[in-house]
Amino acid sequence: MPERTPYIAGNWKMFKTIAEARAFAKDFRPRAEGVEGVDVGLCVPFTALAATVEECDGSGIKVCAQNMHYEPEGAYTGEVSPPMLTELGVNGVVLGHSERRQYFGETDRALQDKVPAALAAGLEPILCVGESEEEREEGETERRLRHQVQEALEKVDAADLGKVVIAYEPIWAIGTGKVATSEQAQDAIAFIRALVGDRSKEAAEVVRVLYGGSMKPDNAAEILAQPDVDGGLVGGASLDPESFAAIVRAAVNAK
Ligand code: PEP
Repeated sequence: MPERTPYIAGNWKMFKTIAEARAFAKDFRPRAEGVEGVDVGLCVPFTALAATVEECDGSGIKVCAQNMHYEPEGAYTGEVSPPMLTELGVNGVVLGHSERRQYFGETDRALQDKVPAALAAGLEPILCVGESEEEREEGETERRLRHQVQEALEKVDAADLGKVVIAYEPIWAIGTGKVATSEQAQDAIAFIRALVGDRSKEAAEVVRVLYGGSMKPDNAAEILAQPDVDGGLVGGASLDPESFAAIVRAAVNAK
């Protein structure tokens, strides 16, 4: 069985100016530098990418964007392309976050082009999927996850599927303080892994599937200890260097 390196990624959403991003990185970097066996990433606003890349240079901390267009350039006012991110030294990009789906019309169809475009540019995509509260209550969780995963990965070659990071983020748990039980997280993530396995057994063994949704220092350990949970995408608790570092430490101890 190949080992999967756990990955803890902080999603800052629309928080932190350049000055605030620099201050975070200066404080967080020494807390993360001694950590071994866990990948750590910061998904930051476009405006703070260059400064965060500079502050994290040589630390091993990955710096990621939170969205991206799939074309390399074009008449797409307000958009940012893959080469614009790689030029800055960015390592990855969050794609299909539920807030982008909910407020900005992000579609599975666009993700079908965004995920392979990120991979082609050398950016590690963090593809977000997850059901709404209503879908869970109606027993529609697996149907929703199947649709989102199959659509978004449709144009990714089977050989590249293992390079995608998938974040299972139940919408009802994002920013609500309502965290999925470790059993709910394990079941959904095992299901997502099986969906990847329908395309490639090898990819299913190496693809990293993270949990996201109100992960905090006091609940991270239990979720991260689940066999299929390969890390976390952390929103609110990633804004403070110590609480984010505590989640990283929980990941070190969990495996
Ligand atoms: C997120 O933004 O992806 C997220 C999981 O947020 P929170 O941890 O605040 O629920």
